[in-house]
Amino acid sequence: MEKISLVVPCYNEQETIPLFYAAVVDVAETMKDQVELEIVFVNDGSSDQSLQVLRDLAQKDSRVHYISFSRNFGKEAAMYAGMKKAAGDYIAVMDVDLQDPPELLPKMLEEIKENGYDCVATRRVTRQGEPKLRSFFARMFYRIINKISETEIVDGARDYRLMTRQMVSSILEMTEYNRFSKGIFSWVGYETKWLEYENMERVAGTTKWSFWKLFLYSLEGIFAFSTVPLAISSVLGFAFCAISLLMFLFYGMKALILGDPVAGFPTLICSIFLVGGIQLFCTGILGQYLSKTYLECKNRPIYIIKEQR
Ligand code: UDP
Ligand code: MG
Repeated sequence: MEKISLVVPCYNEQETIPLFYAAVVDVAETMKDQVELEIVFVNDGSSDQSLQVLRDLAQKDSRVHYISFSRNFGKEAAMYAGMKKAAGDYIAVMDVDLQDPPELLPKMLEEIKENGYDCVATRRVTRQGEPKLRSFFARMFYRIINKISETEIVDGARDYRLMTRQMVSSILEMTEYNRFSKGIFSWVGYETKWLEYENMERVAGTTKWSFWKLFLYSLEGIFAFSTVPLAISSVLGFAFCAISLLMFLFYGMKALILGDPVAGFPTLICSIFLVGGIQLFCTGILGQYLSKTYLECKNRPIYIIKEQR
């Protein structure tokens, strides 16, 4: 019999884990003559009782496995570790807060088995219950990154998806340290079917994403999947060289012909600040890529496992 593995990252989720488990077991019951279930929880360095909850679950249900990290490594690392451990023929990644409805699993499996897709992914069509400002910036992020990156990043795409073992193997081959899953899932290619659904509120606990964390994450995405910012700094540099050459000619001639006295302090100071600012901005862009390269070439492990079962 074929097996479906659910990879579930958990960070301080002691309230939601039992609810999630109950919901998934119910759904698995309806699919039991098609696939066997396996759940791989990844405890991403929680500081609450999550690990104890997972130990108890694994004790009483042999379909439950868990990995526990030595500290918080982030959701990306947790997904990677979970996919590595998962043994199923079909592998799903889902959040533990039930914002990724398990009821979609049978439908997703059907799309892969009957209609030959390699991956069934979900995207939410509404951003209900989300702060207005956050939605605005999220939209803007998707617009920008899709302009400057060759990898398509779908607006509203969640990490919730069911994949074939083949696709997961390809993802596991991408061992980069700076992991931006939305890009990685799309970069590996394969045939993806999109299911749309309405945004859901989490069942318990609170979101782990502050606005600032999301902002840094979006920059991560841009620097990991596009080198256009580098090109922008070259173009700016070139444009400013050209402008300064023209100015040189113009003011040189003007001084020679008209014998203009020294003037124009405000213009001078403004242009110094402008050009200085642009230089710093471009150095900053360069620095971003350099820092990513630096972290990549240290070749540190993506996560460290303290305990697993
Ligand atoms: N998560 C994690 N490590 C982190 C942050 C989050 O494993 O450092 C998990 C979290 O437990 C949840 C999922 O990632 O299962 C999504 O997190 P959350 O619900 O806070 O994000 P949101 O749904 O608000 O985007
Ligand atoms: Mg959530």
